[in-house]
Amino acid sequence: RAKDAGRNSFAFYDSTLTEKAEQRLRIESDIERALEEKQFSLYYQPQVCLRENRVIGVESLIRWQHPELGEIMPSEFIPIAEQSGQIEQIGLWVLSSAVEQIIEWSNEGINFNRVAVNVSGLQLQKESFMKTLDSLLREHNSLYDKLEIEVTETFLMKSADSALNKLERLKDRGLHISIDDFGTGYSSLSYLKKLPITNLKIDMSFVKGLPGNKDDVEICKAIVGLAKAMNLEVIAEGIETEEQFVMLRALGCDFGQGYLISKPLTQNSAREFLLSESKRRSCF
Ligand code: C2E
Ligand code: MG
Ligand code: MG
Ligand code: MG
Repeated sequence: RAKDAGRNSFAFYDSTLTEKAEQRLRIESDIERALEEKQFSLYYQPQVCLRENRVIGVESLIRWQHPELGEIMPSEFIPIAEQSGQIEQIGLWVLSSAVEQIIEWSNEGINFNRVAVNVSGLQLQKESFMKTLDSLLREHNSLYDKLEIEVTETFLMKSADSALNKLERLKDRGLHISIDDFGTGYSSLSYLKKLPITNLKIDMSFVKGLPGNKDDVEICKAIVGLAKAMNLEVIAEGIETEEQFVMLRALGCDFGQGYLISKPLTQNSAREFLLSESKRRSCF
């Protein structure tokens, strides 16, 4: 499965300022064509229940196979698309592709609890996103159970009340909503309490230091405690070692994902993974 991981990713770091500006313009103008010519795809990273080490679902992660530049990672083009406004179109494509995948796997009788979709906070502001989400949920009732929305803490804080109210209503009807990269934003606890969420995702920067770094241990412990106190599910991202897995499980963290369990997989590899996982019970 290692071959599914991102290689040859296109990086801006080495280039001069003008080159950077040119590449930026190029990315921006190529996104239009990428959408038309289906150069985007979704990869899926498995998420497991730490207690039983059983797969519960996957997080979808966008990939761009550019005909000349090769694979471009989302950290390179999502920020550009957010600035240019193209995130609206990309986001709608991501949402409908993930929904198609949920329906396809469900029809195939594949066992999974949910598929998480990353949503840029800017999308939440757009009427188009909420409308599409609403109508998809109305069309496919089972989605309330299967679809999960991931939004970052900072973006949730910046979102308009109207968007938050809509999310609240969807949450009340069973939709899972996660705060991604939790612990890296600045939300106050009183504000957090008001947000329409069901899950906290511990940012991988805190997982990295486990089990040796005392601060990271305390932070993870605190986030798990906070989640429990607020009746939220908690998932850790970026689990790369068995020690991290074991410690997070001992801290009471519900779920986890990371290279230890699996890298993000292509659609077909993810299907195989889910199929074989329903037979496998425990790996360590
Ligand atoms: P994220 O949602 O926090 O996703 C986690 C990132 O960590 C992913 O990077 C994933 O491939 C990577 N990762 C997973 N396990 C490990 C691990 O064990 N170690 C390490 N070092 N990394 C791990 P990716 O796919 O490059 O995505 C980066 C970010 O781009 C995402 O962060 C998310 O904010 C954004 N993104 C990805 N797909 C989408 C999308 O469809 N829509 C939007 N709006 N944003 C997306
Ligand atoms: Mg995410
Ligand atoms: Mg994250
Ligand atoms: Mg992130």
